[in-house]
Amino acid sequence: MQKHHKFSIWYFLLAIWGVLLIQNFLANTFAVKTVPYSEFIEYLESGRVAEVAVGPNPIQGRLVPETEGDRDQYFKTVRVATDMAELLNRYKVKYAGTIESTLVRDIISWVLPIFIFFGIWFFLMKKMMPQQPGFMSLGKSKAKIYKQEDTGITFEDVAGVEEAKTELAEIIDFLRSPDKFTDFGAHMPKGLLLVGPPGTGKTMLAKAVAGESSVPFYSISGSEFVEMFVGLGAARVRDLFEEAKKNAPCIIFIDELDALGKARGISGPGGHDEREQTLNQLLVELDGFDANIGVILMAATNRPEVLDPALLRPGRFDRQVLVDRPDKEGRKKILEVHLQKVRRVGAIDVDQLAAMTAGMVGADLANLVNEATLLAVRADSDRVEMPHFEEAIERVVAGLEKKNRLINPEERKIVAYHELGHAIVSISLPDTDPVRKITIVPRGIAALGYTMQVPTGDRYLMSKTELLNKIAVLLGGRAAEQIIFDEISTGAHNDLSRATDIARSMIIEYGMSEALGQVYLKGEDTARFLLPGASRRGDYSEETSRLIDREIKSIIDNQYEAALAILNGRRQAIEQAVAILLEKETISGDELREILGETSPPE
Ligand code: ADP
Ligand code: ZN
Repeated sequence: MQKHHKFSIWYFLLAIWGVLLIQNFLANTFAVKTVPYSEFIEYLESGRVAEVAVGPNPIQGRLVPETEGDRDQYFKTVRVATDMAELLNRYKVKYAGTIESTLVRDIISWVLPIFIFFGIWFFLMKKMMPQQPGFMSLGKSKAKIYKQEDTGITFEDVAGVEEAKTELAEIIDFLRSPDKFTDFGAHMPKGLLLVGPPGTGKTMLAKAVAGESSVPFYSISGSEFVEMFVGLGAARVRDLFEEAKKNAPCIIFIDELDALGKARGISGPGGHDEREQTLNQLLVELDGFDANIGVILMAATNRPEVLDPALLRPGRFDRQVLVDRPDKEGRKKILEVHLQKVRRVGAIDVDQLAAMTAGMVGADLANLVNEATLLAVRADSDRVEMPHFEEAIERVVAGLEKKNRLINPEERKIVAYHELGHAIVSISLPDTDPVRKITIVPRGIAALGYTMQVPTGDRYLMSKTELLNKIAVLLGGRAAEQIIFDEISTGAHNDLSRATDIARSMIIEYGMSEALGQVYLKGEDTARFLLPGASRRGDYSEETSRLIDREIKSIIDNQYEAALAILNGRRQAIEQAVAILLEKETISGDELREILGETSPPE
């Protein structure tokens, strides 16, 4: 926002110039000429004086213009001892103690410029201090609530996000016939958080939910709240919910929730009062309504990790729907949707196009189709053909490379083996969370690729073996890289930090180390909550500390060996799975288990 505040001397020069202009205009219009007394007498003699007002000393008066049609002229003069009444009577001039009031003139020439000055001053102040509470807080809010009676978008228009659609189907059912659900006493989730990179179709999905269930769609963007005056954001949120409740069933959609819902305190002291107030108001509204009246709140973010934890608590945005970058199959479907809108399409190999556009999201693909169409028009072609697409891809890819969103084929291979390493170790070991799917879609929400494991249920107790297996799974990624490439990469640092955390907890919290025995050594490390990364040490000796480190290393080493052994025994399966993963970018847990000859876990 800083750039708006730059104070400019030009504003003042402009203001002064403006005032001078006005004064000049007024002076010409209501000019009062100061004349010598002798000239006044001459005017009297020539009969030009229409009327005068005589004071104790000054005389002001109006002159008839010299030529017909001109403006009247005003004059003033200072009397030289004469008998005024006698003189004026002689020339038959109307005279009085007063004259036409100059009040209007005075107002225009003095008060108006002052108002203009103040106006400019206020304008500048407002620009300089948008956060000043109470000051000029009557300014108009930037955050607009958009209402669409009918979004006109259906699930057909949003392609390649099948998982998200499945999760949203229930909401549509509810909005279509809320009574059915409330009859059963069912409680709908209030808040749904769509999580995914920009351009993956989160807004479209929210609109599609409204479109599919034919309810109004209210939307507002989190980033627009940030520039507002204190109190306004909160008021807006209140208005939004009030309006929505009146029009239930309906959907409220907040785009860029992270701009508004960043964890409080992150912005530092004296930071964003406004955002905090707005966020608090949002929390109040979330708590204060019952989804069963038919208002569903949806929000989108690409940075779920910065959200205030209060937003994610049960009864608030407690359901998250992942809308990640599309894999090859998904891109194919999205391309088909957008190609449908082009009227003159030649023979397009959509499958090949999908293969050529790894890493692109829905918005990129929509843009690509448009770009290819434009190229075709410009080239005077009959239809949009593959060469147009090839050229368009080159352009779009160049842009994406600059944004660092594509990964090269070598990296892609490393990521594929790495992710398979996690998955295969997990499938091979008992009591691990079942693998649901593995993807290597470039630069997805989880940076490079991920292995999706679904916990089978809430766990309150975990055995030592389970914890060790968890560590082995985390190390499986790096182990696979070691085996295949005889080289390790930086891609595993998050894995290592999580594995180390588990190992440390096993030793100092759960008493699972033989060398240290059944002791609790964690200490009261409340400071950790204030300063991330602050010392986690409890009260124990140097020697114990060294022993802990040695034990952590030994656990990690052993589990790494275990992971290596598992993967070494399954080289063939790895190669088989990698071929599929590189081709399709996604492989399901079941497919992988089949390759490995393992049975599926119980649902
Ligand atoms: P987000 O809200 O995730 O940033 P949008 O929903 O605003 O993304 O998508 C922007 C545009 O990209 C849409 O208008 C649409 O044309 C295109 N688009 C994105 N995702 C998809 C998809 N899954 N299917 C079809 N078009 C998509
Ligand atoms: Zn990993």
